[in-house]
Amino acid sequence: MAHLSGTDRSQLLLLPEAVDDYVGPNNPVRFIEAFVDSLDLQAVGFVRVTAKATGRPGYDPADLLKLYIYGYVNRVRSSRRLEAETHRNIEVIWLLRRLKPDFRTIADFRRVNRSAFKQVFREFVILCRQLDLFGRELLAVDGTRIKAVNNKDRNFTRTSLVKFIREADEKLADYMKRLDLSDADEEKASGSNRSGGRLAEKIAAIKGKRDRHKALLDGLDRTGEDQISLTDPDARAMARMTKVGVGYNVQLAVDTKHKMIAGQEVSNQVLDMGLLAPTAKAAMETLGVDRIEAVADRGYFKIEDIEACEAAGITACVPKPIRGPAVRGGFFSKDEFRYDAAQDAYICPGQQALSARYASKSRDNVKIDYSNRGACKGCHLRERCTALML
Ligand code: SF4
Repeated sequence: MAHLSGTDRSQLLLLPEAVDDYVGPNNPVRFIEAFVDSLDLQAVGFVRVTAKATGRPGYDPADLLKLYIYGYVNRVRSSRRLEAETHRNIEVIWLLRRLKPDFRTIADFRRVNRSAFKQVFREFVILCRQLDLFGRELLAVDGTRIKAVNNKDRNFTRTSLVKFIREADEKLADYMKRLDLSDADEEKASGSNRSGGRLAEKIAAIKGKRDRHKALLDGLDRTGEDQISLTDPDARAMARMTKVGVGYNVQLAVDTKHKMIAGQEVSNQVLDMGLLAPTAKAAMETLGVDRIEAVADRGYFKIEDIEACEAAGITACVPKPIRGPAVRGGFFSKDEFRYDAAQDAYICPGQQALSARYASKSRDNVKIDYSNRGACKGCHLRERCTALML
């Protein structure tokens, strides 16, 4: 059987006459068009909403915003790629009415209207609220790391700077010693000293690099920060999946009714700890509620943050992290031993009752040891319970 073959390229076709005929009634671009047209761009904060009376006409921010949202929805972020879409993508051709802004115009639009995009997001959430798309009862908060325009080599932590300076000092001391030896050899031989010249070059290069690193370290001391990024000063080195990258920590609060994003905050904090209250509060404001529940993973557990949630009307559900040397060593955590008040005994993971054996007193505390020697002796879980020999 032959393969599927396309149609003949020279075949004449009766294509629809209007661009509008190519875009179906339920195509999302029609929603983008209606949404942007409903916004008061001046109030939202976009610049150049009113065209100038003189000079070359510019693009309407509404058209550029439609293109931006289209790219956002379809994961086309690069301004060059968005420009390419204006030439070949029928949906974009429909949306922009055949306008073809170049990549610089698209990039400039994004740059000068940065703060207005946040307000557009708010307006979108308010629209979804009016359409009753949010349950407004439960938020799920989590973070994602996004890459910044900053190479890893242009990010320095306090530890890496101190290490580099220490190594540079050691190297410099070694080179100086070798330079002294080379000078002594030169005096003896009174010949040319090529190796001494090379060493001097190396010393100058290391000294220059050391001074630059020292200046960065002094900068960190002045600001009290722990790291510095040279290309994008606000970006921080943080774990991204299994790798470390330089970027930002984007916090998202998702309303659980239709799994829609109700709030988002960008932070350069490396850990999620302490970010639950600010993220959930921002989502509450947008959703227009006084009380809400929020769930997050154990990475968010911080007592002060949970107290801040309670003060703001947020009922936070965050599992307590399992920390401590026993857990790190692969042993059972304390939570796996349940206290039974009726028996005054702990029920262990092997479902055995451990009763009080010894009590010792320190200045303020009484320490009681619970055990069940007989049960532990033959227990198959002992390796995960204790390192002590019974
Ligand atoms: S060794 Fe077994 S019986 Fe003893 S405390 Fe651990 S789990 Fe329970």
